[in-house]
Amino acid sequence: MTRLLHRSIGQTLPRAASARGVYITDTEGRQYLDGSGGAAVTSVGHAHPEVLAAMRAQIDNLCYAHTGFFTTDAAEELAEKLVNLAPEPLNHVYLVSGGSEAVEAALKMARQYFVEVGQPQRRHIIARRQSYHGNTIGALATGGNAMRRQQFQPLLPETHHVSPCYAYRDKGNDETPEAYAARLADELEAKIRELGPDSVMAFVAEPVVGATLGAVAAEADYFKRIRKLCDHYGVLLILDEVMCGMGRTGTMFACEQEGITPDILTIAKGLGGGYQPIGAVMLSSAIYESFANGSGLFQHGHTYLGHPVAAAAANKVVEIIARPETLANVNAMGERLQNGLEAALGASPYVGDIRGRGLFRGIELVADREHKTPFDPARKIHAKVKRQAMARGLISYPMGGTIDGIYGDHILLAPPYTIEPAEIDLLIERITQAIDAAIAE
Ligand code: PMP
Repeated sequence: MTRLLHRSIGQTLPRAASARGVYITDTEGRQYLDGSGGAAVTSVGHAHPEVLAAMRAQIDNLCYAHTGFFTTDAAEELAEKLVNLAPEPLNHVYLVSGGSEAVEAALKMARQYFVEVGQPQRRHIIARRQSYHGNTIGALATGGNAMRRQQFQPLLPETHHVSPCYAYRDKGNDETPEAYAARLADELEAKIRELGPDSVMAFVAEPVVGATLGAVAAEADYFKRIRKLCDHYGVLLILDEVMCGMGRTGTMFACEQEGITPDILTIAKGLGGGYQPIGAVMLSSAIYESFANGSGLFQHGHTYLGHPVAAAAANKVVEIIARPETLANVNAMGERLQNGLEAALGASPYVGDIRGRGLFRGIELVADREHKTPFDPARKIHAKVKRQAMARGLISYPMGGTIDGIYGDHILLAPPYTIEPAEIDLLIERITQAIDAAIAE
């Protein structure tokens, strides 16, 4: 009997023993192609020699110094690097230990900003249904993932939700993408007005939805309209790129492809690439100045923020992602993955949609393609795909559920940015077989 409380109790998991490049090997010697980078974490591949060397150098000198007393080269250099890569006005960085912490800090930054600038009545958070922003109380309250929220509801502060931009299901057949984006912006505007424009603090969204709908990007005009609305009503725009940021979608930040910049941006997963637990919040100069000219501090903090070994690892990971050849490979392999999935699965009666950007791709499975009818949730198709894929030596990230309109079964694929063509082809072969086997079960 295990003494470890696992995510799923009673399930026997293989024990991971080692990892190199795009493969993880278990203690039985079985090799798994890391087709989803775990949960879109592994960015520059496993055991990258440059990252290991950077971590070793840091460990030899300094493993920890509390940020109440010291700053470190590693943390300062990482902040500098991120700011140089990010669009204006994201000029400052706050370092945390993961995605949920980044979202919590982002919410508290938004709140403190309005207190500092004399608008303490602003307190409402608006986010989107079918979103996930983390599992801590504030982040969980922000996300619209009904299944994850369900049993914790009495503990969650009140938040408000509007529709996501999810064209496959929600755009009318004769509606243009522009008209659809305008309709969604109108819905957000109505929500802001209903709550009282002066009481709304922030709108939170993932530029490309990850953990509730596999890899759903917005329609062309959507984020431009959202940015305009937020500006008009003085609401802060928080974009959560914990999963889709750091090169995952083919640009360093996913919002670059939307032509807008948020006031606050959260990143994590790919930033540390799995080498260390790390996340970050990037904030605009206006927010930074409000703290600097106001109370002179950000009223928040964790023991491990700016951890030097995590910062040293992330420093090297970011350096590798920022090399032109890395993002070129994300785009080339992303296209190969999309085209290959379309060729292998595009005609399947059970595949409703294949989508995404860069190496962030989603497959939506349906019982009836013409009517987009989801599978009966009791069949747990997503869980079967995960198991069938593991049996074939493939790690994928299937998800599913039905509460509150979270539709059907989705599979997220997010391999490391270093993946090669033959490995993409193997991924496609294995996921196709796993889907066929899961549906046949
Ligand atoms: N935001 C998004 C968009 C995420 O996908 C996740 C994790 N799936 C989180 C926040 C929470 O991150 P973490 O699990 O590192 O706390």
